Amino acid sequence: MRDDEPAAGVLPYAEVTDEAYAAQTAASFTVREFEFAVLLSGRCPRCDHTTTSTVVDELYRRDTPAAAQDPGYRTVLCECETDHPARPAGLRGCGAYWTLRLEVEA
Ligand SMILES: [Zn+2]
Ligand SMILES: [Zn+2]
Repeated sequence: MRDDEPAAGVLPYAEVTDEAYAAQTAASFTVREFEFAVLLSGRCPRCDHTTTSTVVDELYRRDTPAAAQDPGYRTVLCECETDHPARPAGLRGCGAYWTLRLEVEA
């Protein structure tokens, strides 16, 4: 079932974050753990499309100061399948990113 049909007024791609993103997704995202990665799925807090992000060690460790201090933090990127205008070639999603605190052993 698709619930992320492109609609008029799709947000242009922009690499942005907001404190509210983490709060929204902490409550609503599904977290699945695998041996080398964590799979997060839910609705992007910026564009409201369904997104599934695979978070691997290399991705979240190089990012925010919070991630460097606490390995429980993961930087999550929107990876929805909708075409957002002005998106650089090869990228996915709307550009939103945020940091999630996960109770997961790295
Ligand atoms: Zn989107
Ligand atoms: Zn998004």
